[in-house]
Order: sequence, then structure tokens, then C-alpha cells
Amino acid sequence: MVTPVPRRGSRSPASFVVNYAFARNPPLVNPANFDFHCHSIVSDGLLRPEAVAGRAAGNGVDLWALTDHDDLGGLAAARAAAVAAGMGFVDGVEISIEWRGVPIHIVGLGFDAADPALGAGLDALRNGRVARARRMGAALAAIGIPGVYEGALCFVTNPSLVSRAHFARYLVSIGIARDLPGVFQHYLSPGKPGYVDHRWATLEEAVGWIRGAGGVAVVAHPGRYRMSGGEMGKFLDAFKDLGGQGIEVACGSHAPDQALHFARLARRYALHASRGSDFHGPEESYVDLGKLPQLPEDLKPVWRLLR
Ligand code: AMP
Ligand code: MN
Ligand code: MN
Ligand code: MN
Repeated sequence: MVTPVPRRGSRSPASFVVNYAFARNPPLVNPANFDFHCHSIVSDGLLRPEAVAGRAAGNGVDLWALTDHDDLGGLAAARAAAVAAGMGFVDGVEISIEWRGVPIHIVGLGFDAADPALGAGLDALRNGRVARARRMGAALAAIGIPGVYEGALCFVTNPSLVSRAHFARYLVSIGIARDLPGVFQHYLSPGKPGYVDHRWATLEEAVGWIRGAGGVAVVAHPGRYRMSGGEMGKFLDAFKDLGGQGIEVACGSHAPDQALHFARLARRYALHASRGSDFHGPEESYVDLGKLPQLPEDLKPVWRLLR
């Protein structure tokens, strides 16, 4: 579901001229600052959905989506807080998948949050996370760091959504590393001792659930995947064939040159461009809500697909 951005400012005579782009897509007014990727305590963020909304509005965001990992539980509170703060709101989620052995995240936007197939798919994903977390705990115990599963649970804010971020916060708290990137680098990334393989959703499933619920599927932070250019091309072909429509170009984990690279891929693959901070919390995230470069003007922003 999409709640429109409120109309801004006084009406100048020009605003009576019919805007045909607007007429085709009546719910949305051209946003000045949209942020379609962030997390709350419903997954591995540090703030309640209402507090994320307040922070987004305070930073000038006017069209916002909450995209918790594999869980829709924060959307109703987020929408109410967004409306109260004068922002437009888009239902969002970040779905964990694996494609040809590479863990990838797909953001879903503007879907029907009551869709049964989407709900059942996300339920299964969350259940799988508990078993994976126990195996991560066992793997870390095997290298001499016991009790990490139990310790991570102290950082978990949604009992059905345990993430590597919770493990990382616990490992920092006991002095295993100085900060989260350090823990990921040495313990929790693929190939490191605390990383265990896991069967996430497939690309077909994630895009199918999002499309089946009337939403738009977007490739999250494409610059973070360990893929060659050729593999990325094959992935984007597969994503589009399944009905995927968007790619994050301005994103909290993209350096400026990566944003330019993925802007080129958005053009080459005719994908709509998204913009998202991937904000998790004030003490953790390098990029705050809405504090992102604007998209290149020739790209089609993904909000145009929402209705
Ligand atoms: P999971 O979904 O359980 O595999 O955990 C992935 C989450 O871990 C991401 O959504 C981030 O919150 C966090 N994460 C992954 N890599 C890093 C990193 N290098 N530094 C900090 N946090 C990270
Ligand atoms: Mn996360
Ligand atoms: Mn992600
Ligand atoms: Mn994210």
C-alpha cells in the first residue's frame, strides 16, 4: 500500500496546468527526498518504527518506506507515524535470497501487506533464521568463543528475526572486535568461522511474492555482492525476466563511483532507480535517513511505478 506525499505549498497558477505524468499516477506527488531502504527493531535496526519515521521526517524525507528484513510487523506503526509527520509512506520489506551461491537482498515496495503468499514465504524465511543462528553459535564455539547464540539473543528485538547484526553487536560487547565492520570482516562474512551457509529464498520466490502482492521488486545495494560484471549481467537478466523492475543506485553502502556504475546498469537494463540509506541506527550507520545524493536526472525513479 502507498500513502501519498501531501501536496506542498501554495498553489501557483502553473499548478493548474494538467500534468499528464501526474494524471497517470495519481497517488504520488513528485517527492523531493525519498528513502526506500531502512530498518527498525522489527528486524535488526536499533529504533522503533515510529522513531525511524520521526528521524526520517526530521531529515527532510517526504516519501519513505520501512524495509525490515523478512518481516512486515512494523509497517502499520510506521505508516501511522509517517502520516502524522507529514510524509508519504510505502510498505516495504528486504527479502533475503541466494542466487547461484551468492546471498542477495531484494527490496519489495508498495505491495499488499495482507497478501497470504507473501506472508507465508516470509514466515518460512524467519523460521529458518533460528536454526541458522544456532549453527552460527556452534561454529563460533568450535573456535573457542562459546555462548554467542545466547548472547546474541540479548540483542534481538523481535524473537522471530535473528540476524548476523545481533551476533555482531554481542561480539563487539564482549570485546572480540572494536566495531561491527571488524566483526564481519573476521568472523561473520562468507569464508569466516562464524559464517554458515543457509538456504534463503530463491530469486523466483522473492520476486514472485512481491509481484504477486502487487508490489515492485528492487535489487538492494548491488555494489555489495561478490560478483563479476558478467555474473551481475546474468543476474539482472534473470531478475528482469521474473518481473523485477528496480535497482538501488543511490544507497548507503555505495561509494560515488559505484553509484555511477549502477546508474549505467540501470540505463542498460532499463531498470527504475531507487534510493535508500539502509539506515539501522544512529550509532551504527554511516548514512542517515534521507542523506543521500539525488539520482541522476535521466533515470526513472522507482516511485513512479507505485500506485
Ligand atoms: P543476515 O540477514 O542475518 O545475514 O544479516 C545481514 C545484516 O548484517 C545486514 O542487514 C546488516 O545489518 C549486517 N551487516 C552485514 N555486513 C555488515 C558489515 N560489513 N558491517 C556492518 N553490518 C553488516
Ligand atoms: Mn540489517
Ligand atoms: Mn541488505
Ligand atoms: Mn537493509
